Amino acid sequence: MGPALPVSYVRVVAVERLTPRVARISFSGDASARDLGEILEDRPDQQMKLCFPREGQDVPRLPEPDADDAHGMRWYEAYLAIPEAERPLMRSFTVRGHDRAAGLMTVDFVLHGDDGPAARWGRDARPGDVLGMVGPSAAYARPLPVADWLLLAGDETALPAIGTLLESLPAGARAVVYAEVADEAERQVFDSPGEVSVHWVCRDRGETLTGAVRSAVLPAGSGAAWVAGEAGAVRALRRHLVEERGLPRTAVEFSGYWRADLTQDDAPTEEDLAWARERAAEAADAP
Ligand SMILES: Cc1cc2nc3c(=O)[nH]c(=O)nc-3n(C[C@H](O)[C@H](O)[C@H](O)COP(=O)(O)OP(=O)(O)OC[C@H]3O[C@@H](n4cnc5c(N)ncnc54)[C@H](O)[C@@H]3O)c2cc1C
Repeated sequence: MGPALPVSYVRVVAVERLTPRVARISFSGDASARDLGEILEDRPDQQMKLCFPREGQDVPRLPEPDADDAHGMRWYEAYLAIPEAERPLMRSFTVRGHDRAAGLMTVDFVLHGDDGPAARWGRDARPGDVLGMVGPSAAYARPLPVADWLLLAGDETALPAIGTLLESLPAGARAVVYAEVADEAERQVFDSPGEVSVHWVCRDRGETLTGAVRSAVLPAGSGAAWVAGEAGAVRALRRHLVEERGLPRTAVEFSGYWRADLTQDDAPTEEDLAWARERAAEAADAP
């Protein structure tokens, strides 16, 4: 049996406005909890769930993890048993940067303007504020497909993952990035040992991620892709890459990070379920 799903508390140590719509928030482990250096792993694209306190709570209420509950199922049942008015809201995030020796991590919060609890919290965060954290866990690691070149495409919620993936590329690896943001002021700078070209797709110029990737001239040779962002755009891009560009299905790693007009608490739509079934069928067919 693997190690228990890590459940911890994290405390804000610094807040910076990376761009007008992205708050970069640095966290340490909370003194009462496990050190962050023990929880974080040395790999890119580490996903976790952050747990936000309810109105009137300083600290979110989390069940104690159970040492032999490898997949966190019992922990999740205990979480669901908390009365709704007190149960912390959970949202998915990515570790943008970490320093295991110092026990620190940074997370980039997109301040998307809709009144979501995570975006609201990110806008108002102050040093000392405490959140719960579930994960990251290697069980959810999504290794990059291997090919001559890699396409990384996403909106601003995917930039933390794209940033860490670029940093982890082998020297000279070829990557093409398409990043959709609100406007020029949202551009970020990425470091990478790879040979990377970044194309910024700005919504205020009427550009869209799907439109930009559709008209992209991609390199010759075998390609692989990593796509994340709004679920409808991600599905359209996956279809385009597989059906029109001829990329093997297994070479396109994709994930819907948020859904237009739906919160992360809303139930899956028929389309979400259809895609989940398709994914499961493909995984069953994979060699
Ligand atoms: C694996 C994974 C990793 C992620 N990593 C990050 C990350 O590092 N940083 C980050 O900021 N986000 C990240 N996200 C996306 C984030 O979880 C969602 O955007 C989430 O909905 C934000 O929660 P909220 O409480 O602000 O809004 P919710 O309460 O979920 O939604 C409220 C409203 O806001 C809208 N909305 C939500 N997100 C956006 C958006 N980006 N742009 C416009 N409208 C939006 C919804 O459609 C809804 O109408 C990640 C998601 C996944 C699945």
